[in-house]
Amino acid sequence: MKNKKQFYHEPKLHGGEREGLLVTTFGATGEIENEEGDIIRCHIRKNADPVVTGDRVYWLPESQGTGVILGHLPRKSLLARPENAHRLKLIAANLDAIIIVSAPPPVLSEEMIDRYLVASETVNIQPVILLNKIDLLDESQKNSVEKQLSVWKKTGYPVIGSSTVTRDGLIELNTFLQNKTCALVGASGVGKSSIISALLPGSVIRVGEVSAKGAGKHTTTTTHLYHLPNGGNLIDSPGVREFGLWHMDKNDILAGFIEFRPFIHHCQFRNCQHGAEPGCAIQEALKTKKIDERRYASYLKIVSSLRKKKS
Ligand code: GDP
Ligand code: ZN
Repeated sequence: MKNKKQFYHEPKLHGGEREGLLVTTFGATGEIENEEGDIIRCHIRKNADPVVTGDRVYWLPESQGTGVILGHLPRKSLLARPENAHRLKLIAANLDAIIIVSAPPPVLSEEMIDRYLVASETVNIQPVILLNKIDLLDESQKNSVEKQLSVWKKTGYPVIGSSTVTRDGLIELNTFLQNKTCALVGASGVGKSSIISALLPGSVIRVGEVSAKGAGKHTTTTTHLYHLPNGGNLIDSPGVREFGLWHMDKNDILAGFIEFRPFIHHCQFRNCQHGAEPGCAIQEALKTKKIDERRYASYLKIVSSLRKKKS
């Protein structure tokens, strides 16, 4: 789902509205942070354009210290996925970056990271690759992981190695997050909650809640925005965690491999599938090493998984 398909409905304002930051929602209720930094529980007006965590909202105070949310200000970005043919499920608004978290062992799933990269490109939000649990790697594993990571680095993606045990890389991550709003994505057990706890003094996040149950099921409840001491915000959401599995079409996937873009429209045949056709510019780029073999293999796998899903 591309950002350009979104429409913005200006809420009806009456004067006296205030602005706030929506930090969490549950049903028709949202918690906003007002300009003084206080949390106020608000009812979300029924006919308002739907709002989501991360939105800057217009709200009206009520008696008893509660309020009403009337709508949202224009968004910088929106993470959403199609719930069905007619409805979008909103996940988070105004993200500056998506932090793709993964962790060895046993191995780094390159295809999984590529899927998240494609999904991030599709919503035009900058992805960052965070390899957590680097404390578990021995020297030879470190070397091979370094090689794997170099492909993404060459493509231009920021890559950070981290450990919540030794605190390696946490300063680098924290510096990146400064004054940005970001969401962590990645499989359960890679250490997302631990990372949030490590960055938040006195955190309320429960580490190991999901993995301890063993089933890999998400027991986490609502989406929440956390303030970092350095002016950054982290959004933790069960929905964000699943967003890499969105339905995407073939052209989205192709364009999601950003280093393929210069070659896409230069094939001999307009309907080139970038397989074994003659005059394929992507194949040519592979031969001249302008495109990495491993990334190309991921592309083919992701496209073929789409075909299977549709048939
Ligand atoms: P989440 O499901 O992605 O939120 O993962 P958790 O934060 O719950 O972490 C899953 C498990 O990995 C927990 O037992 C953590 O203590 C452990 N863990 C998290 N970060 C690290 C790390 O950097 N190194 C090591 N060795 N273990 C970690
Ligand atoms: Zn081609």
